[in-house]
Amino acid sequence: TNRKKVVLVGSGNWGSAIARIVGDNITANPQLFEPTLNMWVFEELVDGRKLTEIINTEHENVKYLPGYKLPTNVVAVPDLKEATKGAHILIFCVPHQFLGRMLPQIKEQGLDPNCCAVSLIKGIDFNDKGVVLVSNIIRDALNIDCSVLMGANVANEVAAGDFCESTLGCTGVQEGALLQQLFHAPTFHVNIAMDPNGVELCGALKNVVALGAGFCDGLGYGGNTKAAIIRLGLIEMKKFCYRFFDGIKEDTFFESCGVADLITTCFGGRNRKCAELFVKDKGVAWETLENTVLNGQKLQGTWTAKEVYTILDKTNAIADFPLFVAIYRIAFEGADPKTITSF
Ligand code: NAD
Ligand code: 13P
Ligand code: CA
Repeated sequence: TNRKKVVLVGSGNWGSAIARIVGDNITANPQLFEPTLNMWVFEELVDGRKLTEIINTEHENVKYLPGYKLPTNVVAVPDLKEATKGAHILIFCVPHQFLGRMLPQIKEQGLDPNCCAVSLIKGIDFNDKGVVLVSNIIRDALNIDCSVLMGANVANEVAAGDFCESTLGCTGVQEGALLQQLFHAPTFHVNIAMDPNGVELCGALKNVVALGAGFCDGLGYGGNTKAAIIRLGLIEMKKFCYRFFDGIKEDTFFESCGVADLITTCFGGRNRKCAELFVKDKGVAWETLENTVLNGQKLQGTWTAKEVYTILDKTNAIADFPLFVAIYRIAFEGADPKTITSF
């Protein structure tokens, strides 16, 4: 048969929320997709029980998306090789700092020659030459095509079934059509943008701005200040895209992955929330916030702020990105949070 075997690599807050949509779409399209959705789970004990076992018996990720059932065709698999064996579509949804060491394992077992990937990961990396996209890391490590899905998609709200939109960034029309069938749902509208780099960069960079928005909340500022941070942040996002990439489309900033994700993250995201507490608790460690406030969920804006700063530093571009730099210095160099508005 030509049915596609879909595998989800990741099972955090967003991974689990998207498993609900993808699991149901697979069931609804049996002519297109194989019935089971393997979900790779980073194994851990929750109240003395293996998380995979809890997921496979209770059909709920009680740690990362409590309160929402997973479809019964979603099967938690702790072994990465076993989970990804024979995949035709690999959905990547892990915090970006963990991806690098996982890919060789997937590569090792040999992938189907027609396998393709889609990344839901919001993050960035760099090398000696400059910016490296997460999708590039996947493409290079596995030698497969990689699309991206990014948007104003706070996981708990998606799981609750509140309407939202998302942007599928892909290079080909065929990949786009197939992946749209995998992700689109009545309350999760997937629009295609033939600008994968722009879509991915928006998704990564907005997390840095969200830290800035959270710092403003921690300082007790209101909506006017946050709106200014959002506006200035969008300008630096755009400038960063154009500075380091050719062919980014201006329209992309008006898709869900652009201005919409920036807004929702600056009001309702985890990066915002932890940045507010970082100011109120005067420099508490980011990792402490992840453990105490997020119960083990991971921040991406902190890593991305560092990675962006490194890129700007290496390319002598510090002076051109005063907001990104101010956010980095507050987050990692002990700068006074009030400097968020002092450039
Ligand atoms: P999360 O932050 O909720 O959870 C962290 C995950 O990392 C858990 O599944 C945990 O098991 C796993 N983990 C911990 N240590 C690990 C290790 N050493 N190796 C591999 N995995 C490990 O996860 P998430 O929210 O699904 O985030 C994944 C990506 O999705 C991120 O890039 C994030 O920016 C993006 N995203 C998140 C949301 C959201 O609302 N949560 C929305 C859109 C996009
Ligand atoms: P946070 O990681 O800040 O919660 O952002 C979630 C997100 O990407 C919403 O689209
Ligand atoms: Ca990185």
